[in-house]
Amino acid sequence: MKNDQRLPGRRMLLRLAAGLGTAGAVRVIAADPAGAPSPTSAPVAGAAGPRSAPRARPSAYRLRPMTAGAPPRFRPAAPPVRTRPFEKLPEIGHAMVLTFDDGPDPLYTPHILATLREHDVRAMFFLCGEMAHDHQDLVRAIAADGHTIGNHTWTHPLVTELSRAGIRDEIGRTSEVIEKITGGAPLWFRAPYAVWNRNSFEIGAELGMEPMAWTVDTLDWTEPGVGTIVRRVREGAAPGVVVLSHDAGGNRSQSVTALRRYLPELLADGYRITVPQRR
Ligand SMILES: [Zn+2]
Repeated sequence: MKNDQRLPGRRMLLRLAAGLGTAGAVRVIAADPAGAPSPTSAPVAGAAGPRSAPRARPSAYRLRPMTAGAPPRFRPAAPPVRTRPFEKLPEIGHAMVLTFDDGPDPLYTPHILATLREHDVRAMFFLCGEMAHDHQDLVRAIAADGHTIGNHTWTHPLVTELSRAGIRDEIGRTSEVIEKITGGAPLWFRAPYAVWNRNSFEIGAELGMEPMAWTVDTLDWTEPGVGTIVRRVREGAAPGVVVLSHDAGGNRSQSVTALRRYLPELLADGYRITVPQRR
């Protein structure tokens, strides 16, 4: 599959997304396996513009409208609704968050899971609903290993090209399939291509989710070489950093191999690898 297409107009959309203003803070707690989590406040991260998180546009799935009049099934995110995503999590201390987008994929996700299991760390997986629906055993495996599952829309569209109803369909159906498989609806949402708009923030909040971007983009989807991916993670490593990689959407063998190198190196450097938790 080809996954490196840049969508026309993306630069303009990013500028629009970046101009949405500032937001308040929500309370998150750092998941610390060594002790009780401590509540802290997570301020809005800096203005560094996140880059793309490509995935081949799926072809087979046809969106169906949401059931009209369905009762709300998700508790809303803490007000006020954010107008920017979290990009880093300074409250987690000397720890980092590893995130994997676009899956699950039977070729790569099991290897990612095995490496995380080997080092007994938890990560975040932002799943596409379509992939989750097609690989439910992998969704269960991710959840069973204690990882945090986030919502990455059903078909990986540019949400800015969708109507409000269309966004709700993409995000809502994904939350529903994840809840159906794992028993819990996701609490975090990541817009494809890091392109957000007000509707996506509002609908994500209505569905109980906070928006999560990242600090360090490995650009692993460009297949830059294992050494380059490792170097990007190591050079970007700092407390509270969120790392973006992909476990689906193309050949992700470099992502798999790179994780096997940089994860033990981060741990040797004294970083905890953790996931944020909301309450
Ligand atoms: Zn993506």
